[in-house]
Amino acid sequence: MIALGEIRRSFRGRIELNEPLAKYTTFRIGGPADIYLEPLDKEDALSLIRFLREQKIPFFPMGNGSNILISDSGITGAVVNLEAGFNYARIAADGVITAGAGIKLAKFVDFCIQHGKAGAEMLAGIPGTLGGAVIMNAGAYGGEIADHMLTVDLIRGDRLLTITKEQGGFAYRTSKLEGDLILEASFLFPEGDSAAMKVTRRETMLKRNSSQPVQWPNAGSIFKNPPGHYAARLIQDAGLKGTRIGQAEISELHANFIINLGGATAEDVHALAMLARAAVREKFGIEMELEVKLVGFE
Ligand SMILES: Cc1cc2nc3c(=O)[nH]c(=O)nc-3n(C[C@H](O)[C@H](O)[C@H](O)COP(=O)(O)OP(=O)(O)OC[C@H]3O[C@@H](n4cnc5c(N)ncnc54)[C@H](O)[C@@H]3O)c2cc1C
Repeated sequence: MIALGEIRRSFRGRIELNEPLAKYTTFRIGGPADIYLEPLDKEDALSLIRFLREQKIPFFPMGNGSNILISDSGITGAVVNLEAGFNYARIAADGVITAGAGIKLAKFVDFCIQHGKAGAEMLAGIPGTLGGAVIMNAGAYGGEIADHMLTVDLIRGDRLLTITKEQGGFAYRTSKLEGDLILEASFLFPEGDSAAMKVTRRETMLKRNSSQPVQWPNAGSIFKNPPGHYAARLIQDAGLKGTRIGQAEISELHANFIINLGGATAEDVHALAMLARAAVREKFGIEMELEVKLVGFE
C-alpha cells in the first residue's frame, strides 16, 4: 500500500490514487495505475524518483500515451507524467533550443518554425511528447528527433545526468535510454525559411490525414518496419485488412494500425497484433517486432 502522507513529504505535484489510464492514451484503453504523479520541476522529479526507489515502488514514465498499450488490469506502482511541469521550450542567443520532456511535439515543432530553425517540421503530426519521442527516437518522412539533438537531461538511478546524443544510442525507433526518466533535451537546428517549413508541415499533415485512420483511437504503427519491408504491406498481403477481434480492427486504410472501434480491450488489441505477427511469419517467414510498447502485461 502506498502511503500518501509519505509521498507528500518528498513531492509537490499532482497525485491521483487508483487512476484509470485509458483517458491518457490515444488508444483509449488501459486499466488503472496504483498512483499517478505529475512532478512540477527537476528538483521535484528527482526527489520523487529517489523516494520511489527507496520505497521499491516501480514507476512507468508516460508521455502522451500515443505509443503504448496498457493492459486491462493496469499498472502496478506509479505512473510519472511530465506534461504539467516540463511543458516549455526556449532558445538561447547561440540558437540552441532547449525543451522540456512534457511539451507536445506539435508545439515543439511550432516553436522551431517560429524561430526559423529547420529539421523538425516533418515530425509535426506525431502525437507524442518530446520525452516519448526521445525514448522512441520518433521519426517520419525522412527525419528523426535525434537528428539535430545535442544533449538530454535525465534521471538515471537516483542521479540527474546530462548525456550527449552519442551516449543516447539512437537508432530506428529506439534508444539506449529506456529505464531513465527524460526531463529535457537540447537541439541545434540549421537556419531555414519559416514559410517553406510551414508548407512542409501542412503537406505532412495532409498526407497523414489521408493515409492514417486518424478518426479512430489508435497508437500509430503497431510493428516496426522489418529491414527491407513495410509492415503495413506485409499485413495487407497476408489478407488481414479489416480483421476484427472484439472491438479492435486492423485498419482498412493502413494495415499497420489497429483501431479501437469503441470499447476494445487491451486483450483484443494484443490478440489481433499477435495474429498479424503469426500470419506474416507463416506466409513470408518474416518476424515483425512490436513498435508499440506493452505495459502491465504478464
Ligand atoms: C496517429 C499516430 C501516428 C503516429 N505516427 C508516428 C510516426 O510517424 N513516427 C513515430 O515515430 N511515431 C509515431 N506514432 C507513435 C508515437 O506518437 C511516438 O512514438 C511518440 O514519440 C510517443 O510519445 P508519447 O509521449 O506519446 O510516449 P508514450 O506513448 O507515453 O510512451 C512511449 C514510451 O516512451 C516512454 N516515455 C515517455 N515519456 C518519457 C519520459 N519523459 N522519460 C522516459 N521515458 C518516457 C514510455 O515509458 C514508453 O516506453 C504515432 C502515433 C499515433 C497515435
